[in-house]
Amino acid sequence: MTSASTSAATAARGRPLGGKVALVTGGSRGIGAEIALRLAADGAAVALTYHRRADLAERVVERIGQDGGQGWALRADSADPEQVHTAVAGVAERWGGLDILVNNAGINVVGPFEELSVADVDRVLRTNVRGPFLVTQAAVPHLREGGRIICIGSCLAERVVIPGSTLYATSKAALSGLTRTLARELGPRGITANLVQFGPIDTDMNPADGETAAAQASLTALGSYGRASDVAATVAHLAGEGGRYITGAALTVDGGFAA
Ligand code: NDP
Repeated sequence: MTSASTSAATAARGRPLGGKVALVTGGSRGIGAEIALRLAADGAAVALTYHRRADLAERVVERIGQDGGQGWALRADSADPEQVHTAVAGVAERWGGLDILVNNAGINVVGPFEELSVADVDRVLRTNVRGPFLVTQAAVPHLREGGRIICIGSCLAERVVIPGSTLYATSKAALSGLTRTLARELGPRGITANLVQFGPIDTDMNPADGETAAAQASLTALGSYGRASDVAATVAHLAGEGGRYITGAALTVDGGFAA
């Protein structure tokens, strides 16, 4: 340990996630960046992966450091088994194990069902299904007793239907099946697995401006988009003491989209 990381570890003591190690996939921007910042603020040492935007990922790590936390950015395409294995093993080696895995990385392709191409199908399923599957497989051997797996789903998987979202909804429904089955398989080892199904959140993927956004917002009971910090707060709850007895759950956080 460097002296900087020793003092960060000391500062983290007494915080809700002090002494914990977290891995957030797709932590360079949007929801993943906010989750990484929040878990670090709660005291965890946080590794975040990115696909293309090393610059943004490093900026998140810088912000974590400025707040006195420990962050580490790693390039790892979630759907590439070798990159994933190297990244996860590196994190476990650097910080002595893993406590929290957040499967956040994801993409969206929107379009009328009949116009979606085979390439679209492969691209979305590769990132949104194969990705979390491989990352979790690599992470499980390193997860300690009390480990938490948190998957970022969408209310479009089950609760709300928006035409044009067949592919995305299919991929997030698969994530639900993965998460619930993991809860059963890993429960005996003291590891929980939960899905959080979010409504519209203002990010690059789903900006809260323009006509489509206004239509989505008007479908929620609160009449507005959520913020990435709303997602991060839910993840922090599941990762902390409050999540100890929650597993196999699909929590909905969507401003009443499905109400
Ligand atoms: P963004 O498009 O803003 O960010 C996507 C993140 O995923 C980036 O960090 C990106 O890395 C990373 N990423 C993409 N592909 C890969 C890959 N193959 N391997 C590793 N990382 C990858 O999306 P959001 O923040 O909006 O979405 C995050 C998650 O939340 C997704 O799973 C999404 O489905 C889900 N979600 C989003 C909602 C919304 O309304 N925004 C609502 C409900 C769920 P890089 O920067 O390097 O490209």
